[in-house]
Amino acid sequence: MSTGMDFSELADLMNINSYTKNKQGVDQSGLLFQQWMEDIGYDTRTYQRETIGNHLLFTSAKSAGKKLLLLGHLDTVFPPMSFETFSEDDQWIYGPGACDIKGGNYVALCALRAVKASSGSIGNIDMLLVSDEETGSDDSKLISHELAKDYDYVMVFEAAGKNNELVIGRKGVGTFFIDIEGKAAHAGNHYIDGVNANLEAAHKCIQLTALTQLDKGTTINVGKMEGGIGANTISPHARLIVEMRYTDATERDRVLDAIHSIVHSHEIEGIEATLSGGIQRDVMQPNNEQLVFLRELESITGEPFLTEQRGGVSDANIFAAKGCVTLDGFGPFGDGDHTIHERASKHSFMLRVEQVTKILSYYNQGLMTEA
Ligand SMILES: [Zn+2]
Repeated sequence: MSTGMDFSELADLMNINSYTKNKQGVDQSGLLFQQWMEDIGYDTRTYQRETIGNHLLFTSAKSAGKKLLLLGHLDTVFPPMSFETFSEDDQWIYGPGACDIKGGNYVALCALRAVKASSGSIGNIDMLLVSDEETGSDDSKLISHELAKDYDYVMVFEAAGKNNELVIGRKGVGTFFIDIEGKAAHAGNHYIDGVNANLEAAHKCIQLTALTQLDKGTTINVGKMEGGIGANTISPHARLIVEMRYTDATERDRVLDAIHSIVHSHEIEGIEATLSGGIQRDVMQPNNEQLVFLRELESITGEPFLTEQRGGVSDANIFAAKGCVTLDGFGPFGDGDHTIHERASKHSFMLRVEQVTKILSYYNQGLMTEA
């Protein structure tokens, strides 16, 4: 399939480095997108931030009918000078954000432009671009929590699956820090006076790992351990950094309870331990309302959608956990994300623009607000 499509605007967007910690670059890329959105009639609400990029909400007029939020992010994982350049061949677009997620944002823009061109104006469809998705959306999730109640449907523009699948489920993820306090003592002269935090950490590591239940999709990874001072001192302190991933709320609660009891009961006498951290992005579980929405999209586009579930998280988790009917994967298919091999399929790109245009045209209330 010849795409015949000009990707030079997307190239401009991708050539601006927008590593999460590069506020200037993230903001510059946001301003470019803002210009395009305002050109088709959107108003911009800017959430100014000091140390990270600003979050941008593009709003349209509202009237009766379903309210849609299109969701993307401005940031990428690539520091300046690491992977900065757009390129293309007949089949692929290459570069930072090709599929995660500038390509997806651009699909939404192309579809909105087509809707604007055919209907004259756009209503009931807003778009949110956050600046900190790649570092966990710790700041923007507070905004997302607030906005969730204003929308019936959330369409997320992360990459499609290999066969253009939409994403109906994503694991939840939590990160925990366990600080273990023992008591230092000379390992030669006062061995029995010490309380070995490292030894307790070893017990806790094994107990935590045993919470894993692969058949339920639940994994616990003690990804980092540190502790102690040196060979001749009983270790007075140790720290574990732990990640959990899970596919449903029952498993989440089982593991949370177990983590608490592991932290607060000790194999070694005299130990004290504290727990910090928590759920970072809650699970996105497939559900009935989502299925109804999916069936509606199939009747709008006149084609069936394949679906899949993923282990990785996105901001879809945040809206889904707040009860919004959420589907992810409206971006183009791509692979190599988070590596210098990131690319997006042009064929998939065109397909998504076509599908999303039909969907947004269906829900658009722009003409009615003008009438
Ligand atoms: Zn990413």
